[in-house]
Amino acid sequence: MTTPHRPLLDTQATCSCGAATLTVNGPVLSMLLCTCLDCQKETGTGHSAVALVKAADVEVSGTLSAFARPAASGATTTRHFCPQCGVTLYAQSSRAEQTMLIPAGLLGGDWFVPNQVIFARSHADWDTLPDTIPRYETYREGL
Ligand SMILES: [Zn+2]
Ligand SMILES: [Zn+2]
Repeated sequence: MTTPHRPLLDTQATCSCGAATLTVNGPVLSMLLCTCLDCQKETGTGHSAVALVKAADVEVSGTLSAFARPAASGATTTRHFCPQCGVTLYAQSSRAEQTMLIPAGLLGGDWFVPNQVIFARSHADWDTLPDTIPRYETYREGL
């Protein structure tokens, strides 16, 4: 194993309409691509790309709507999104409420280096991903 790459974020991210903002100040714990069917539906493409950060390192401003669904992992995933423009600001798993999953595309920049593909069992072949990223059939304990 190589040393995990943990970019240090000090950034703000805003939804499309500007009503909601995240301020993130801390290390990225993990960088995931999730190919579960829910992420395919929510993103409209083959996978979501999310950065796992400590919830304590994130400040949310603006009023968000939330949608909770049973995750393929057996936990509950709650997605928090702007009620005006629909952009997801973050998601949280009932399995790890001290962390937040933030979409890489929301945060922007080019620091994102995915270190694992989760729920690869439902990965679609047309969604091209580098073979070099470790793939897990479901989720991995202790990201
Ligand atoms: Zn918005
Ligand atoms: Zn997913």
